[in-house]
Amino acid sequence: MNFSNKNRQHFLEQLTNQSFDLLVIGGGITGCGIALDAALRGMKVALVEKNDFASGTSSRSTKLIHGGLRYLKQFELGLVHQMGRERAVVYQNARHLVIPEKMLLPIEEGGSLGKSAISLALLAYDFLAGIRRKEHRKMLDKRETMTTEPLLNPEELIGGGLYYEYRTDDARLTIEVAKSAYASGALLLNYLEAKEFLYDENKKIEGIKGLDKISGREIEFRATVVVNATGPWVDLLRKEDNSLKGKRLQLTNGVHLVVSIKKLSLKQAAYFDVGDGRMIFAIPRGEITYIGTTDTVYNKSIDSPYCTREDAQYLLDAVNRIFAIEPLQLSDIESTWAGLRPLIFEDGKSPEDISRKDEIIHSSSGLISIAGGKLTGYRVMAEKTVDILVKYLNGNFKPCRTRETRLSGGDFKNDNDLKETLKHLMSEGEQAEIPAIKIQEWFYRYGRNTTAIIETVKKLTSIIKTEDTKYDEAELQYCIEHEMVYHLNDYLIRRSGRLFFERKQYEIRIAPLAHYIGKELGLNETDTQKMVTETRQEFDKAVGF
Ligand code: FAD
Repeated sequence: MNFSNKNRQHFLEQLTNQSFDLLVIGGGITGCGIALDAALRGMKVALVEKNDFASGTSSRSTKLIHGGLRYLKQFELGLVHQMGRERAVVYQNARHLVIPEKMLLPIEEGGSLGKSAISLALLAYDFLAGIRRKEHRKMLDKRETMTTEPLLNPEELIGGGLYYEYRTDDARLTIEVAKSAYASGALLLNYLEAKEFLYDENKKIEGIKGLDKISGREIEFRATVVVNATGPWVDLLRKEDNSLKGKRLQLTNGVHLVVSIKKLSLKQAAYFDVGDGRMIFAIPRGEITYIGTTDTVYNKSIDSPYCTREDAQYLLDAVNRIFAIEPLQLSDIESTWAGLRPLIFEDGKSPEDISRKDEIIHSSSGLISIAGGKLTGYRVMAEKTVDILVKYLNGNFKPCRTRETRLSGGDFKNDNDLKETLKHLMSEGEQAEIPAIKIQEWFYRYGRNTTAIIETVKKLTSIIKTEDTKYDEAELQYCIEHEMVYHLNDYLIRRSGRLFFERKQYEIRIAPLAHYIGKELGLNETDTQKMVTETRQEFDKAVGF
């Protein structure tokens, strides 16, 4: 049965008609990672997500699979070691989504770190993180640095360091993990909010009372163990469980801006000093460059973090200082996103200095809460959590298999296999008269699953008029049938990233795409119109400062 909300009724019946070994609350990378690991070990798993998968922090990160360079500054050597190695595993299991990206670290006269300190740090990073030889750091003099990125302001520049980060799409990575969990037997539902815990006579959690946000119905479901993987919302659920004691979350907001590549035409991604001791990224990606991030303590609504004018100006000032360009203005910003870091509060530490380590918190009711961590480390975090669950459930489960498990769409033996698969898909696309650039775009989003979209284009060719409509509808159709898309925002934000990277082009396509979803999912005109309005609101919010 397809992983589609067309089958929602059946999924809801499955959820309520049986008891699970494990119930995961939260469909971000943490929750989906745990669901996949547990399902692969043979546990009976359900996961509920109150909005869409990845709608929290997992679609709002810097979108890098880090080797952990920044942790060197805090001497978290173990974390650098773990992140570096884990990056290689994530790459191996989802090559279509994890792309090596050279990063330039410009060094300025009087900057917070001198040339030899940076050289030493990058050397230590190569060693600790186990970086592949061909990706070892390279130190550059001023002339080489300017050749690598000609837009740099030469005034204070004295040189640079080149090292590797890996670029990803956080929300797509989460969706591919969710799809893999589903394919491994887990039941995952979006738009189902955990509202209350159900307890047995010993005050141990035995289930959840949830709200199906689509039908408005309350439902109850049961599991032996419940994991709270709700990221920034972790403490709200701990409070609901009356177990918010000891360690607590400290939320910090991180904002990214998107400008046209024409306004900031970087040849090379850069990681640079803002001037106040903080470092930020500027990353070119197709037709845009994105810039981020901020790190400010956050005490407002967890459900809707946003970019303020001050956030935007702070990032623009940093860019305008380091690059010799026509200064960027607020009006140049095409889109933004803001995400909350669920960090563990540490007395007296600034947001920058709080550890990014993950933490597992046990409550006397049996609730297991996971907080902190990174997108990059989702697999090890899941492994650690499920190891605990195996002991808790005391069952006969298989060992962890996620290290070798290719994610949905990412089943490639090696880089050559990836290239050959792309070549094959391009030739299939050519036969169907689909431009190569479109096939590439889909391939680096859906991997091997691109085949299904090409098949749909072939079917639509006889019915549909314009090329853009045909390709959008084929892609959307795939996401409805196989990726649980229910709302247009699911597709335009989390499945395709279009709100972030192609906001202007897609603003005018909202209504027809909403009607396509409405028709596919059998929505009435009122609900379809509501979807149009909500999507427009989201588009406006991205530049609402
Ligand atoms: P979330 O993704 O927030 O998922 C929690 C989910 O729980 C949400 O979808 C929410 O809707 C759901 N939920 C909440 N309450 C309920 C309920 N009652 N019932 C059901 N569902 C519920 N990491 C990297 O490795 N690389 C980076 O480049 C990077 N950059 C970052 C930049 C920024 C600005 C930020 C903020 C973080 C960054 N991170 C990065 C960290 C990384 O993004 C997070 O660690 C990770 O996404 C957290 O995922 P999560 O699943 O724990 O939380």
